Amino acid sequence: MLDSSIRVVYWWLKGGYNRICEQDGIFSSHRVEDAAFSKAFGSSYPDMKIGVLALQGAFIEHISVIRQLGVEALPVRLPHELDGLDGLIIPGGESTSILHLMQSYNLIEPLRRFAQAGSPVLGTCAGMICLAKKVSNADSSNLETLALMDVKVRRNAFGRQVDSFETELLVSAFGDEPFAAVFIRAPIIEEAGPQVEILSKLPEGAVVAVRQGSLVATAFHPELSNDPRFHSYFLKLVVAKTGVS
Ligand code: GLN
Repeated sequence: MLDSSIRVVYWWLKGGYNRICEQDGIFSSHRVEDAAFSKAFGSSYPDMKIGVLALQGAFIEHISVIRQLGVEALPVRLPHELDGLDGLIIPGGESTSILHLMQSYNLIEPLRRFAQAGSPVLGTCAGMICLAKKVSNADSSNLETLALMDVKVRRNAFGRQVDSFETELLVSAFGDEPFAAVFIRAPIIEEAGPQVEILSKLPEGAVVAVRQGSLVATAFHPELSNDPRFHSYFLKLVVAKTGVS
């Protein structure tokens, strides 16, 4: 049974869209201006295709941001839908549900092969848990992860739903301008192997964004901030790793 879900309502209005997102009683709303997006981040890559794993969670939001950046974004539910993709996003939601559905849809091995072939993957929140080699507070309901990133994560590291929060983060790749990050029942990275680059930490020291080769993971939901810098960063990585433009 799914014990958490994210609902999104969005509607177009005068050159942009408004959206309201709800997860377990917590609402957030954003307005995204088309013009502002394409002016600041108009990095259109006409030949690129990005998949977004659409089994459960906040996949609609990621698809919207990637499309706003001028790049084709496709939902992925079945193994053959990975064919021809240049990169993949695993969204936030509920990691046990996502991993369960990955098993039911026979996606575990195809997803591992996709990443091991060097195709970039961005995992956000529950998506980060799916990528991790170890989950320190795994219980009997925790399933096998994709085990692609050399990190140990702790689920629900900030407590329950009421402990969700938004904070300004400094991200090494973005210079001095902080990123307003949304944490919803978020995990943290407790340990990271030597090949893992730390992209961001909370002021108290918890690691919340990392990169290992062509894999990127965030403990927060970059698709819920009105700021596409994480997605732009990921698309640049896709260009660098695959040569697609
Ligand atoms: N707490 C969830 C989990 O452990 C993650 C929450 C989220 O993705 N916002 O899977």
